[in-house]
Amino acid sequence: MKVFVVNCGSSSIKYQLFDMSDESVLAKGLLERVGGDAVLHHNGLPGRLGRDVDAPDHAAGLRLILDILVDPEVGVIGDTDEIDGVGHRVVHGGEQATDSAMIDDGLIDIIKQNSELAPLHNPPNLAGIQAALEAMPNVPEVAVFDTAFLATMPPKAHRYAVPEQWYARHHVRKYGFHGTSHRYVTLRAAQLLGKRPRDVCLITAHLGNGCSMTAVASGKAVDHSMGMTPLEGLMMGTRCGDLDPAVFPYMLSRGMSADQVEQALNKLSGLLGVSGMSNDMRDLERAANAGDGRAKLARDMFVYRVVKYIGSYYTILPKVDAVVLTGGIGENSRTIRQAICEGLRPLGAVLDPARNDEIGDGKAGAITAESSELSLWVVPTNEELMIARDTQRLVAGL
Ligand code: AMP
Repeated sequence: MKVFVVNCGSSSIKYQLFDMSDESVLAKGLLERVGGDAVLHHNGLPGRLGRDVDAPDHAAGLRLILDILVDPEVGVIGDTDEIDGVGHRVVHGGEQATDSAMIDDGLIDIIKQNSELAPLHNPPNLAGIQAALEAMPNVPEVAVFDTAFLATMPPKAHRYAVPEQWYARHHVRKYGFHGTSHRYVTLRAAQLLGKRPRDVCLITAHLGNGCSMTAVASGKAVDHSMGMTPLEGLMMGTRCGDLDPAVFPYMLSRGMSADQVEQALNKLSGLLGVSGMSNDMRDLERAANAGDGRAKLARDMFVYRVVKYIGSYYTILPKVDAVVLTGGIGENSRTIRQAICEGLRPLGAVLDPARNDEIGDGKAGAITAESSELSLWVVPTNEELMIARDTQRLVAGL
């Protein structure tokens, strides 16, 4: 079975074509600046290409990508008929869509209803769905929701301590995001630990440009750091994470507009805001090592908050089989992993420096010593593969 995975952002389309017989990637790419000076970066088996293209909207962009996939020179399939299913990443399923599902009119309505809660994400996700339905009307389509894995959080974890009507009338609660990544690493970690998913209790930390953490009990999410929006929780590349909500009206009283404060908390905060130089952990590590105090503070705050969250999730889980680190920072930064492990010494974590050095570049494995009471693992995430597997499962009617 061949599955085409599509992830539409407001001005981009990321895609991968999988051959599910061995889960290999036949082609993948990114179309950027849809609606403007579009550029396609395509990576297929016969080679790569990067070129300026004409993609005034998502529908035109998707047609263009499909044309490349069947192109006689750089294409990897003869015809789009060879695609058996299309899997879409959809950010917000709200309280209605708690699992991946085949796309029909009812599901499209649910995605539309939740656009209010994810105005920057659900509309482009829908545009991608409509574009694929137009381009491949006979191919079944599946939506895989970022929020779905986190829908099992109990009310005591997902409700905010605000007036009840805010929840009942306005749907104000914690939904969480990155669920597909947390689900993928949960399943993979269970496999690596030699356990069934329903037998594992984990703390999964997705540390990339966006950062989030999930407490997993018996294979299911029971708490999560992101909130009604992806702004809550850990410190991120440009997002502030946890913050006293009174800072918002205070900054309004200092002369900023609501839009400016919201933009600043989303785009100018986090590692970038504190360091004043970059949202990229590699830049911060270089600058901190060269003596830059702000970069060092940003890095220290990042680690401190990760450790603090792990500590709090440790106390709510019946046991912790492993802390699982993933995302660009979790998978690659030996120094941040070492610092997290040192911060977790009170919980019995002991780093194995050789293992920590060895793990990176897509490798999975434990970075703590055999004798460590708390195990830390690195498990590279693969959200696209998770979407492809769900699509395969649903299309095959399993
Ligand atoms: P992601 O959003 O998962 O692609 O992760 C992006 C983040 O991973 C950025 O902050 C990068 O600086 C960080 N990252 C990627 N590779 C490394 C590395 N080798 N060392 C430190 N940070 C890295």
